[in-house]
Amino acid sequence: MGEAIAVSQPRGSGPILETRDLKVQFKLKGGHKLSAVDGVTLSIVRNQSLGIAGESGSGKTTLGKTLLRIQKPTTGTVKFEGRDVTKLRGKELREFQRSVQMVFQDPFDAIDPLFTVFDAVTEGVRVGRIEKSRDKLEAIVSDALKRVQLSPPEEFIHRRITSLSGGQRQRVAIARSLAMNPSVLVLDEPVSMLDASVRGGVISIMEDLKKSGTTFVTITHDIATVRFFTDTLVVMYLGQVVETGATKDVVSDPLHPYSQALIAAVPVPDPSYHVKSLAKGEIANAAAPPSGCRFHPRCPYAQERCRVEEPKLREVRKGRFASCHFAQ
Ligand code: SF4
Repeated sequence: MGEAIAVSQPRGSGPILETRDLKVQFKLKGGHKLSAVDGVTLSIVRNQSLGIAGESGSGKTTLGKTLLRIQKPTTGTVKFEGRDVTKLRGKELREFQRSVQMVFQDPFDAIDPLFTVFDAVTEGVRVGRIEKSRDKLEAIVSDALKRVQLSPPEEFIHRRITSLSGGQRQRVAIARSLAMNPSVLVLDEPVSMLDASVRGGVISIMEDLKKSGTTFVTITHDIATVRFFTDTLVVMYLGQVVETGATKDVVSDPLHPYSQALIAAVPVPDPSYHVKSLAKGEIANAAAPPSGCRFHPRCPYAQERCRVEEPKLREVRKGRFASCHFAQ
């Protein structure tokens, strides 16, 4: 059983979503198993924003799907407000599906191209029969559009989705999730599919959501953007959490060599960064993870101990957890 780690400092009334020793394995040909998520314990606390960062193959997307009940855990639990999400049925399940909303990666794929902005933003509310009155639906859309900075809303509400730019569509994708009045928003790479020219606008919306106390989880390979709008950062490598702590601390002084490498890859000069290394090579095959520390084949600091002994996630400094034998 993994150590329980409150990765967000409580400001509200405790975790909304939490995982405990979560494992997700996929069966491969020849009887092999791939552990996409391998023993992840974390809490998502009300009014907090959490970033889950890692390369492709780190398990972050599978972890996100498990939080949303799209993927079933092999072992371990995901709890929503204290209840095991795999056991929710009927009214409780519908309430969970309304309360935990996903914003998908590609704003061009997520929304029916024949929709107007009104249709897109109200789709979940209409399908779930949460609200039927046209006036009230327009008020919901207007409020959601303001929150994503599509203002004045009257200019956008009747426009076709196809007439919007990529950045505007991503805003509509976020607005339609906000219209459901969710407890938690899960965003999969909210800015990485966008041109650099419109990223700033979406980052600014995320900063506003953070300020307004919206609880959200951002899954990304892009530490450069999440550092602006998350309170807490979880860095994943080959299915495991290798570092977690307050985002500003992890970004300014990463403790794990993998976090250091991810941050070193950010093309933003900032003299406050203490980058010590760059990882070598590619992420290993999750179906056959390296012995000892999974990061050892790429780690510039690897020693013999790293090849044989798996480091545990431990509190290296107050509120700072890392799984490296030598982190201090
Ligand atoms: Fe590198 Fe060893 Fe630390 Fe793993 S335990 S990150 S190989 S120094």
